[in-house]
Amino acid sequence: MKLQDIKKVGVVGAGTMGQGIAQISALAGYSVVLYDFQATALNQAKLNIEKNLEKGIERGKVTVQERDQSLSNITFSTDFEQLRADIIIEAIVERLDVKKELFGKLENLNSEKTILASNTSSIPITRIARDLKHPERFVGMHFFNPAHIMKLVEVISGVSTSDDTSNTVFELAKQLGKVPVMAKDAPGFIVNRVARNFYVEGLKVLEEGVSDVKGIDRLVEASGFKMGPFRLMDLIGVDTNFSVTTSMFNAFHQDPKFRPSRIQEQKVDAGHNGRKSGKGFYDYS
Ligand code: NAD
Repeated sequence: MKLQDIKKVGVVGAGTMGQGIAQISALAGYSVVLYDFQATALNQAKLNIEKNLEKGIERGKVTVQERDQSLSNITFSTDFEQLRADIIIEAIVERLDVKKELFGKLENLNSEKTILASNTSSIPITRIARDLKHPERFVGMHFFNPAHIMKLVEVISGVSTSDDTSNTVFELAKQLGKVPVMAKDAPGFIVNRVARNFYVEGLKVLEEGVSDVKGIDRLVEASGFKMGPFRLMDLIGVDTNFSVTTSMFNAFHQDPKFRPSRIQEQKVDAGHNGRKSGKGFYDYS
């Protein structure tokens, strides 16, 4: 599949990341189907995309016509059968078993040429692709949060990914206004691996009672970081961040430096998943 053959983009998962990916794809002129098995997630995604495009108009970055065209380019659907496209970008829960099952189904639904891409933050691409009939057209396309703003995209080739696939996805990322970089396959790839201790150590400092959530964030932000670890976990999604740490802990054979925090796990147990749920380390209600 070449860049010029891509006309339709499928996005699976209408949560924090999927909505932004759908938005930029539609803004770049692609026909988009945004699928989620929860209608409520799709309704929220539509509201957020409308709001983001509105902000774009206020800032002079999007025209009224571009907003209207983008919104008409997106089909919001709970019907899995609609997920037929030239490339499908997956942004569902960070679990290997769930992602593998999804890609098996997507492979059966789509042509052999369709590129299948995962926005996973931490699961090795080679591992997700293992049981596919055509792993050569499977690739990592890792956006950063918020996906409609952050420029970086890691394009990750698994052991079986073809050069054709990774090159097309690299070009597509540019077409979406992003700055892609090629990365080799490893748990957490580059950015999430380097950044992991930002969260893990922040949580350890909290656990040890050295300071509290606000105190740690305030100090880290005063030192020049845009957001402290707790504000950032709330933006990412406390559950998603916890899943990524757990997945990296396991992928690195229980290396203690990636050990997930009990405090964070308890937040997830309580459903306090950050901004998206109205409460996390901070209250957003
Ligand atoms: P999220 O929890 O905000 O949204 C996930 C969405 O997927 C939900 O709407 C849920 O209903 C839907 N979903 C779950 N299982 C599904 C299935 N089997 N079929 C269809 N829909 C399903 O998650 P998120 O933060 O957007 O993360 C999604 C992926 O993106 C994860 O792999 C994560 O690691 C990765 N990622 C997240 C961030 C971040 O900052 N949040 C950044 C980069 C990559």
